[in-house]
Amino acid sequence: MKNPFHVMLIPTLGCPAHCSYCWSSDAGSPKMSIDTVRDVVTWLKEFRNDRVTFTFHGGEPLLAGADFYRQALPLLSQELSHLNPEFAMQSNLWLLTPEIAEILAQYQVPLGTSIDGPEELNDLQRGEGYFAKTMRGYEIARAHGLRVSFICTFTNYSVRFREEIFNFFLENRFRLKLHPALPSLRDKNPEQWALDPDEYGDLLVFLLDKYLDNLDSIEIMNINDLCRCIFTRRGSVCTFVNCTGNTFAVGPDGSIYPCYRFVGMPEWVMGQVRDAPTMEELSCSGAWQRMHQYEKYVDEACKECKHLRYCRGGCPYNAIVPTGGKIAGVDPHCRAYTRAFNEIGTRLNDEMMNTSFLDGASSFQGAPGAQKRPGIMRLMHKVLLR
Ligand code: SF4
Ligand code: SF4
Repeated sequence: MKNPFHVMLIPTLGCPAHCSYCWSSDAGSPKMSIDTVRDVVTWLKEFRNDRVTFTFHGGEPLLAGADFYRQALPLLSQELSHLNPEFAMQSNLWLLTPEIAEILAQYQVPLGTSIDGPEELNDLQRGEGYFAKTMRGYEIARAHGLRVSFICTFTNYSVRFREEIFNFFLENRFRLKLHPALPSLRDKNPEQWALDPDEYGDLLVFLLDKYLDNLDSIEIMNINDLCRCIFTRRGSVCTFVNCTGNTFAVGPDGSIYPCYRFVGMPEWVMGQVRDAPTMEELSCSGAWQRMHQYEKYVDEACKECKHLRYCRGGCPYNAIVPTGGKIAGVDPHCRAYTRAFNEIGTRLNDEMMNTSFLDGASSFQGAPGAQKRPGIMRLMHKVLLR
């Protein structure tokens, strides 16, 4: 069960890598000081009384160095013990040393890292040498017992190699989360790598089938989330709930934003940790108001959609930032979400009408005599019993 409250800490927007489609790094970014972490502690002491997850994100959070984590983790963990803090980190792992891994292991910090598939393809998109550097960090993480999952960014180029990419993750038994490349707001040619929503929808259905064929050998987190949405009728990740007020990000200078994706954009600052703002004070900021307007817009724009309850219009960043803050549509990945939700929902209904669901086998098996593919019910069991 995910914690209801999520605070992303962005120690810096700097990053030693230069991925082609990156939209978030900033070479001149400052680094967060421990005083800012102390301000975070003071801010959150009385802010909200829910279990919290802190995710260190970037840029590249390991640029903050061992000393930062040696001080920050006990501060957050002990001073906010009433919120039962849990931790996570999203990093390319290039700068992971045994010293930092030891500190992270003490606080059981799961790591998310990024690899786009086999080395050649990955390095084409993320830069030469990227793969080897990340794998070096991965080995250090594993040697210290840290859990690592992989985010695979699919671009309009790499999606042509989806079979090879899936097999790469399967063979290596990596836990996989996919990410569609977004138009880069910092690029002169923002659509260069972006994955078209229809291609993303096809990819989700392709991966659903691949997942079902290999249920005991791989974990695809996005498919798990989509299934959970359909089965529970509630969103279980930020993309599919109203995220405002449940997710915040703190930038290197202590500015508070609605999410890490907005960090570094002055018009999306909601407040400052040193002022320890209350929820009510943050809700008066222009950034909060725009996020809230998006929720109202979704209620109207998506009112005929049967998936509204557990989709909530997708990610507001995807929807409103590319238009310069103007609310002119829902998340452009709507067509992909619709496709995946429809596919999962239809298969689930068919299986429930068909006696074969009792043994977990789908009726979508193709030619007589073909080997049976496990059905959505098997996947639902797997997801819900975890
Ligand atoms: S803006 Fe998008 S990525 Fe950020 S918390 Fe909201 S849904 Fe998640
Ligand atoms: S699938 Fe599309 S129309 Fe339906 S709720 Fe999500 S964004 Fe709105």
